[in-house]
Amino acid sequence: MRAPSAAELIRVWELGQGRKLWYRALLLLAPVFPDSAFRVLGEMTLGSRNAYLLALREQLFGTKIDATVHCPSCGEWIQFAVSVDAFLPRIPERGPSAYEKSFTCRAGGTDVAYRLLCSYDLAAVSQLDDASYAEDALMSRAIVGAAEGLRLTPQTIDAVADAIVTADPLTDIRLGFDCAACGHEWTSSFDIASFLWTEVDAEVRRLFDDVHRLGRTYGWSEAAILTMSAQRRREYLTRAS
Ligand SMILES: [Zn+2]
Repeated sequence: MRAPSAAELIRVWELGQGRKLWYRALLLLAPVFPDSAFRVLGEMTLGSRNAYLLALREQLFGTKIDATVHCPSCGEWIQFAVSVDAFLPRIPERGPSAYEKSFTCRAGGTDVAYRLLCSYDLAAVSQLDDASYAEDALMSRAIVGAAEGLRLTPQTIDAVADAIVTADPLTDIRLGFDCAACGHEWTSSFDIASFLWTEVDAEVRRLFDDVHRLGRTYGWSEAAILTMSAQRRREYLTRAS
């Protein structure tokens, strides 16, 4: 998989300012797939999108993720570590389109035909403030055929959501936690798009610092500094300080 250069990472960051998360996730993947149209990346299933984002994270910052989570029961902050490669049995050559194929599941006592979700589904519900309403809206977009009069009850929505995660597992990356302080156990979704964007944001700000210091010391252009390898930049930075 192709990793973005320092200059590409800054460009991605720049284009993502003020944009929604679904759009930022596609911007991150654009340099990985330089020959794919943005629309094609947007139609990739969310499981495939997340698989590529995890692989990109591994390339940019390594396999191990150290993070913290808030215990929903006692409020304690818990540190946890997880390995990206635990989620990556195999990266597909090209992510399948969410519109390519439909599946069938049993929901509300009837057969329901559904398709997998993609970034454009996230875009369509991104204006909705209420998370549970957005989840319902997502599931109704996924349903492509059902018996007339099928009502979208919570049970129907859960059945379709479960079926989507079974067919495209990385759509929802679930992590299990237990709190040492109060003993509470729970699972929570890990949003790789949001996590990786935060890491890229910090990395780009570090790159701006490097450009600023090296440019001021040596008079080099931004392009010249960003073209250097990270090792070479580090060597000059130790001498510039
Ligand atoms: Zn707790």
